[in-house]
Formats: sequence, structure tokens, C-alpha cells
Amino acid sequence: MTETVESRAASVAGGGDQPKLLIGGTWTDPHSTETLEVFSPATGERVGSVPHADATDVDTAVATARAAFDAGVWTSVPPAQRADIVARVADLIDERSDEVTALVSAEMGAPPSAVSTLQQLPGTGVLRAYANAARDYAWEEYRTGLFGTTRITREAVGVVGAICAWNVPLFITCNKLGAALAAGCSVVLKPAPETPLTGNYIAQLFIEAGVPEGVISVVPGGTETGQALVAHPEVDKITFTGSTAAGKAIGAACAESLKRCSLELGGKSAAIVLDDVDIAANAFMLTFLGLFNTGQACVAQTRVLVPRSRQDEIVGAMIEAAKTMKVGLPSNPEAQLGPLITEKQRQRVEGYIESGKKAGATAVLDGERPDGLDSGYFLTPTIFTGVTNDMTIAQEEIFGPVLSVIAYDDVDEAIAIANDSSYGLAGTVWTSDVERGIEISTKIRTGTFGINWYAIDPESPFGGYKNSGIGRENGREGLESFLEHKSTMLPMGYEPQQ
Ligand code: NAD
Repeated sequence: MTETVESRAASVAGGGDQPKLLIGGTWTDPHSTETLEVFSPATGERVGSVPHADATDVDTAVATARAAFDAGVWTSVPPAQRADIVARVADLIDERSDEVTALVSAEMGAPPSAVSTLQQLPGTGVLRAYANAARDYAWEEYRTGLFGTTRITREAVGVVGAICAWNVPLFITCNKLGAALAAGCSVVLKPAPETPLTGNYIAQLFIEAGVPEGVISVVPGGTETGQALVAHPEVDKITFTGSTAAGKAIGAACAESLKRCSLELGGKSAAIVLDDVDIAANAFMLTFLGLFNTGQACVAQTRVLVPRSRQDEIVGAMIEAAKTMKVGLPSNPEAQLGPLITEKQRQRVEGYIESGKKAGATAVLDGERPDGLDSGYFLTPTIFTGVTNDMTIAQEEIFGPVLSVIAYDDVDEAIAIANDSSYGLAGTVWTSDVERGIEISTKIRTGTFGINWYAIDPESPFGGYKNSGIGRENGREGLESFLEHKSTMLPMGYEPQQ
């Protein structure tokens, strides 16, 4: 058989047809008799299958994680040693880079080069960042208070249910497992049903790196599997990445049992282009930041706010930039943008494009299903002008390659438009004057921001304001979200041996 990314994926550990569930680090027969079939969104080829975990399988996984946590098999491992194991996973991913990118590419259709830059690089980066954070962390401190000395310790929150989206599965899986495990938690991972093989693969690397028996399980499945995990009384915390609608339901369900919960949700970020921008130097990055991953990115800068006086010039440069971004199969080394994840998602995006046109916006670049790529759910980029911020295409997360250009007359108006969103995940400003950019960053209600570019930095807190979520991932703050604080009052007059 000719080696394609799909056939490579089928041959890698955890990929192909995997009839068992990874429970506590051991491949175990599932209770469920259903399977999840994975097909490439780019070629339609079958990539593999895994068991579709049911509520009984979730029960088994949680009981295993609970037993390991309560026995202290992982919490008793010193933080520096846990950090070494987490960092070792980053090394394993880099050593097996071709295999990893082929697997992720097969599952989600993205070109391997895009998987490498948008997922492997930040995924391994975040693992190393959590390792560094765990090594440097003040796990124990003493504080003098009203009644003498208190010993303050940070303890792992317990059993974590980690529920993931499909759009950057390698990055999200590394992020959730890396933080929770560096903190000392046991984890039950629920990958998205579209990308379960990546979840299995990365979890298995943690086992190989040295995470002990019982600590990691994977329960592939859809909404019901996730709901069983969220409702489970033995789960202490849910970490969720996905849509705002599901995040609200999960937050409400967690509130029932006062389960800890952090939510990384959707976005509708604005790129504010100032009148002093060097557009020739910045057009590609500005446009790419809205279209990368075929627009299937929570931080995509999909509202582009441009000064009316320079609108034609800026839009012209954006159109030229978008045309250079090649849409293609994973096997095409020149491809930068892959397909949408499903036919349903492609139709949803096309529905938004229709709604933009009906609302009076003009598609100056009109996305289409490209010739010669009928095997997958491909759609070329769309750029709308004449958009007003009250239009559906400017308010709702489309999760496809669609940019809305909104003209403004003065900077205060641009700031108001950027903030006129139920979301608050990311944003950018484009200017020749960095100080002006920093000033604007202070006025935008988002958890992250970039000046003349944007990236998710593994060492810096990442998360959303407003409907974009609760809590922070990455760096020390990401580690802390899996820790409880404990204050132990020492007897009056007792001097601790520090
Ligand atoms: P989704 O909300 O449909 O599903 C996400 C995950 O949650 C899946 O594993 C799904 O099976 C599970 N799920 C859905 N409903 C659930 C429920 N009620 N209870 C328990 N589990 C449930 O999202 P999606 O389509 O997979 O991902 C796209 C969304 O993710 C976009 O909105 C995107 O912005 C967001 N996202 C956010 C970030 C971030 O860091 N802020 C990163 C990536 C993606």
C-alpha cells in the first residue's frame, strides 16, 4: 500500500483500529459495544476506530483515577520528578514528530506543516512550561498571621475530567494533561469524537514517559460521555475546551455539586488596524490570523476593523494575502489550509456566508468549494466588506474561513466596536507606533492581545473574559488551576523548621 498520512496514522500506536480503552494506563476491554469511526475530513478515507465509551466505562475510568489519587501514587511523586515526566512527553512528541503530525493531520485533515506549527510547537511548549512552573512553584510557604504561623501548601485538586474540542487536538490534549499531571491530579480524558486517536496517542506517551498505573484514562465519546463525566460524583474538577453553549451547560452541571470547573470557550476577536499601519508589511499576518486552521480557531481575528480612509488599500492587500493561502490535501506540501471538520460544519459556514449577503455585506472574496477537492469538506476564504457590528456574521463565532471587515472613523469607535461582543478571548492592534498599541490593549476586554501579531504563549496565562470562559491555562496560572490551597495553623509559639 502506498504510504499516505492516513496509512501512517493507522500504523502508529493508539491509532488505527483500537478495540480497547486506555483505563489507568492499561488497554482494557470496554463495556460499550459501540465504536467511534474516524474518517479523514480531507479525503474521506477511513482513519481508524475506537470504542465509544458509555457511562459504565466512565464509571470504571473515574473509579480507577479515584483509587490512584486516594492511594497517592502520583501525588507522592515529588513535583520536580512529575515535571521531568511531563517534559519527557514533549521530547517524545518531538522525537516522533512525523508520526504525530501524520496522525493529527489524518484525523482533522489539516496539512502536516500546519499541525506542526499550530499544534506541535505550542503543545510541546506548554508541556515544558508546566514542567518549569512545577519545578519553580512555591508548593509550601509559611506566613505570619494574627495567631502566629500558618503553613500554606498547594495540593492537587483531585480527579480531573478533561473534555476537549477537536480543532487543535494535539495542543488541547497536551495542555490539559500537562497541567493536571504536573499538579499531581489523576485524569480522565474525553477527547472530541472527531479526534479520539490523538487523545489515545498522547495519553499513551504520558504512560511511556513514566506516569504510574491508574492515573490516566481515556474515554472517547460524544456529549453523553462528557455529561457522564461531568455528573460523576467522584470527579473533583472539570477542565473544558469547546463551545460557549456546551460550556454554559457544563458550568451549570458543575455548580450542582460545586465541582471546580474551568472553561475555555469561543471567541469573535477583533483586529484593530490603525491609520498608521504599514499594510504591505502586515497584510499577510493580519489575514492569516483570521484564516489559519481554516478559521477553526477560538482566537481567530475574524472581525477586521479598518480606518475608513484606508479601507480600499487594506482590503485589497488582505484579498491578495488570502489568495496566496493554498487550500489543499494533507499530501500537498504547499497546502496551508485544510478542510472544515465535517460536511455539517461546511454547510453551517456557508449558511453564515448567505446570512452576511442577505444582511447587505459584500463578499469581495467569495468562498467556494474548490475544484478538484471534492473528496473533503473544503471551502476557500471569504472576505466581507460593508459589515456592521450588529450583523450575525460579526457577532457569532462562525468557525470557518470568513472575515468581516468593519470600517470605522475614529479610534474610540474602533475600541467600542471591538468590545461590543459577548466574547472576550483575544484581539490585536496593527500600528507603526507600539506605545499606541499598548495603550489600546488596556482598553480591550479580552484575556489575550497582540500588537502586530498574535500567538498563544505557553508561559503566559491564556483564557477569556465574558462568554469566552472562566479560568486560565498555560504557565504558572494554568498549573494553579489544578491546585487547592491548604492553610495549616501551627501551634502558637511553634517555630517551623523551614
Ligand atoms: P463542542 O462544545 O461541541 O464540544 C467540545 C467537547 O465537549 C467535545 O468533546 C464534546 O463531545 C463535549 N461536549 C459537548 N457538549 C457537552 C456537554 N453538555 N457535556 C459534556 N461534554 C460535552 O465544541 P467543538 O465543536 O468540539 O469545538 C469548537 C469550539 O471550541 C469553538 O467554540 C471554539 O471556539 C472552542 N475552542 C475554545 C478554545 C479555547 O481555548 N478558548 C480552544 C479551542 C476551541
